[in-house]
Amino acid sequence: DLTLDVSKLRRDFPILDREVHGKPLVYLDNAATSQTPRQVIEVFDDYYSRYNANIHRGLHTLADEATAAFEGARETVRAFLNAVDHREIVFTRGTTEAINLVANSWGRANLTAGDEVLISRLEHHSNIVPWQLLAGELGFTIKVIPVDERGVLDLSAYRDLFTERTRLVAVNHVSNAFGTVNPVREMARVAHEHGALILVDGAQAAPHQAIDVQDIDADFYAFSGHKVYGPTGVGVLHGRAELLEAMPPWQGGGEMIRTVSFETPTTFADIPHKFEAGTPAIAEVIALGRALQWVDDIGLPLIGAWEARLLEHATEGVQRIEGLRLLGTAPEKAGVLSFVVDGAHSQDIGLLIDQLGVAIRTGHHCAQPLLAQFGVDATCRASFAAYNTPEEIDVFVEGLERVVGMLR
Ligand code: PMP
Repeated sequence: DLTLDVSKLRRDFPILDREVHGKPLVYLDNAATSQTPRQVIEVFDDYYSRYNANIHRGLHTLADEATAAFEGARETVRAFLNAVDHREIVFTRGTTEAINLVANSWGRANLTAGDEVLISRLEHHSNIVPWQLLAGELGFTIKVIPVDERGVLDLSAYRDLFTERTRLVAVNHVSNAFGTVNPVREMARVAHEHGALILVDGAQAAPHQAIDVQDIDADFYAFSGHKVYGPTGVGVLHGRAELLEAMPPWQGGGEMIRTVSFETPTTFADIPHKFEAGTPAIAEVIALGRALQWVDDIGLPLIGAWEARLLEHATEGVQRIEGLRLLGTAPEKAGVLSFVVDGAHSQDIGLLIDQLGVAIRTGHHCAQPLLAQFGVDATCRASFAAYNTPEEIDVFVEGLERVVGMLR
């Protein structure tokens, strides 16, 4: 049965009861950040009321409890990604920091002048700029995997980009700007055939579909807590154990060392702790674990199927609007509806529709190279989560019609 009990599920989200400009909130900016169920919010109250303590080093009860909850969350993430080993799960501040970790640790140790890194045109700036910064220092070349007019990666062009100098492919699993689902499993296979590694940015995939890093055969996989019903300030880098073991530390400090000395070389902790310098976001990590359990209780296949219905309903609805152009018409899409409207600026649409209580995002969605190819510098983007309803989509579409009428 592919019907979600959405009214029951909505009761988990206190924020969905609020009004905006006197209208019920219709929250359709989930690709930027998703809302948080009370089970996750309660983690913070529980943690700070009962067992707030620094982890790993303490010998007292509170430190033990905090450490157990923190490491328990690591195991939850391992299961969520179907990773082989919990040591392959590194907690970061988010997807951005996870990618910067790979660039600065693996990248610095493995890339030299003349090497090549393949990045798709669909990428979020966070999977472009870290590589550009590093390329500026190390002198390797960035090659761009092209997209077609539907926003689909050109796989035959992808295959042709490989040379004996290709070291890494950096690609998102789902595009935040267009919602395109990329064939990362096939892309990983091609990368590995050529002896290259693949880093998958899963920020927009983790909320919408079950992730299996073993099936994908990803070398690195990153996602953010705040897009998958968890808190901000926490994310995950999954890396294959033998890669993480061989990589040098990125940030130095407490928690990541074994011994520190001025006389002999400082030695480092085992993975994953080698990559977790300093006191981490303890409550956030525990809350992320709770969020993933919440997601698991409902089931990602069910969430994905529900969102596909919402996307279809919204896609049909907005076609009524004359002069509306959808960007991103891939056959396989998740959760995102991106569009521009003739004679109405995206920003004006966003501001006016907010007056009706509808939250959408307008702008370049941190994907300027992609938008440039489509001749626009901004789009409107509605993006969906498990708690959205067809009725909310109707409010959005009717609101959009009204707003566009006012602007033209
Ligand atoms: N990659 C993609 C595809 C994203 O959508 C986002 C967030 N918009 C990021 C990376 C960056 O995530 P964060 O800001 O949580 O680090």
